[in-house]
Amino acid sequence: MRPISILLACFILYEPATAALQPVTTAGNFAFYIDEDVSLHHRNWWPAHHAAIEKYLAELLPLIDQHGSCIAAGLERAYGASLPENQPVRVDLAYVTNWTNAYTTGNPAVVHIGVSDPSLQGLYGLELMYHEVSHGSWTEPALTKLVERTFLSIKQEAPRRFWHVVIFITAGTMTRQCLKKVGIDNYQRYAEVYGGLASRDGWREIWQALDKKWAPFLVGESNDRDAAMLGAVNAYRELVTR
Ligand SMILES: [Zn+2]
Repeated sequence: MRPISILLACFILYEPATAALQPVTTAGNFAFYIDEDVSLHHRNWWPAHHAAIEKYLAELLPLIDQHGSCIAAGLERAYGASLPENQPVRVDLAYVTNWTNAYTTGNPAVVHIGVSDPSLQGLYGLELMYHEVSHGSWTEPALTKLVERTFLSIKQEAPRRFWHVVIFITAGTMTRQCLKKVGIDNYQRYAEVYGGLASRDGWREIWQALDKKWAPFLVGESNDRDAAMLGAVNAYRELVTR
């Protein structure tokens, strides 16, 4: 948990940043832009914030270069949809964005990352990049349709959070799987580490069901996407009707 005083201070200091016109760099599926804050009371802060953004990029880019194509291929297989091929996804980097510090808006989607967030560092920054890109119009509709039609097939309504937990577990499991392929085998997925996401009320049963029936499909133990989702939906129903 971040101390509330720090969080409040960030909100007080933060003002909408100036959107950059040109990317500072591209890597994998992404083009990175730095939101330069030129507001008056930020003048003193900007050099330090800019340095923090540059440092964040310097750490993130090699991770994308090394693992990005593996994770992206896993997402495309999972969702049955392609990430944009010739057009990199815009990523706006700022020191602080909103309370989540990682979110996606618009169509075409723009990913927003607040680089100061302790939960978005290192390999978790990598996972969250692929979590956020999953929210784009190129993949999210395919995923939500899969969830809706699977629940419909058993005459149930999909719980509101279900599809979002699918994104958490898919990006997390593919990151873990791609790291394992290069010998990093102690990675715990973001939702298992931060905010108690995998174990909080309303999420726990969805996470457990997806982990049991959807995650094996993600790592190639089966090739039937629809069957894997149906298995997860049935497992979820069993967990909540016990
Ligand atoms: Zn999300």
